Amino acid sequence: MLLDRFPRVSLSHAPTPLEPLDRLRSVVGGPRLWIKRDDCTGLAQGGNKARKLEFLVADALAQGCDTLVTPGAVQSNHVRMTAAAAARFGLKAHAVLERRVPDTDADYEENGNILLDDLFGCARSYVPGGSDVAAACAAVADDLRAKGAKPYVISGGGSNPVGALGYVACAVELLDQASQRGITVTRVVHGTGSSGTQAGLVAGFAALRSPVEVFGVSVRHPREKQEGMVFDLACRTADHLGHGGTVQRERVFADDGYVGPGYGQPTRGMVDAVTLLARTEGILLDPVYSGKAMAGMIDHIRRGTFGENEHVVFLHTGGSTSLFGYKHLFLGAPDQDVARLRP
Ligand SMILES: *Cc1c(COP(=O)(O)O)cnc(C)c1O
Repeated sequence: MLLDRFPRVSLSHAPTPLEPLDRLRSVVGGPRLWIKRDDCTGLAQGGNKARKLEFLVADALAQGCDTLVTPGAVQSNHVRMTAAAAARFGLKAHAVLERRVPDTDADYEENGNILLDDLFGCARSYVPGGSDVAAACAAVADDLRAKGAKPYVISGGGSNPVGALGYVACAVELLDQASQRGITVTRVVHGTGSSGTQAGLVAGFAALRSPVEVFGVSVRHPREKQEGMVFDLACRTADHLGHGGTVQRERVFADDGYVGPGYGQPTRGMVDAVTLLARTEGILLDPVYSGKAMAGMIDHIRRGTFGENEHVVFLHTGGSTSLFGYKHLFLGAPDQDVARLRP
């Protein structure tokens, strides 16, 4: 099999469910809608980083390392899950937290992911927004080495050719589930940030010669930059897989129309999408990634981007822990009228 020769630990409850979104579809219309529940990967409230960490932690252990060092925003899901993975394998963790989001409040600084980072015993240091976080992690690693530790630095979001293997695995898993159900998935929609999720999916589908299109909704960068990052990492992931040269540039797409004012900053569409999924499906999205991705998918349904007969899968990448860091956006909205949220 595609991934057999790569060291891997078990951290995720896979296969994650593939479920229909019929109640959402009754409100927004459009193609057949499915949700791939990678918010249920099981590790520390779940999310996409669990799949990447299976390969990253295995690599750290193979190298005899004892401390995971990684960067993220203050409400980083990746940091929370890295801290939990470290705990699971008896490793230490140190996070370099970038103050990337302006105008935050006490909930953002102390609740949600950051609360859980503390609970998992993760050390942390802060750097200003826009800092070179890779350099900051290298400095932390030097410091740890000087004290006799063996650090393993994980790039932001676990997005490198080792971590992206987790989403090659997800591509294999999804095609398997689709064939069991007798459906042909045409598209996968998800929020794209540090790009390992999309790059892994693109490299996986290419290696499997599958025509499934990956529709990235950018949560941070303009289209050109995001697509460039995804394409570069998808090519390097394909090389690592032994399928170099299979990724075509035109298979990489990221829509930057739903970022709003910036990474981690709320938009009306995000708040409506999070609220709509909660009230039609009982599913929790998040304010930074899956909420904006869902806002994008709903808008594209409204614009007729997807054919009526398509089977479109929304990949739920997790993140609902950070709802508690954005309490003011959702508290006290008892309006029961779902129709108001119809696009
Ligand atoms: C990290 C993250 C993403 C983005 O995945 P990348 O691989 O960084 O592009 C999407 N959703 C959630 C909830 C995340 O934590």
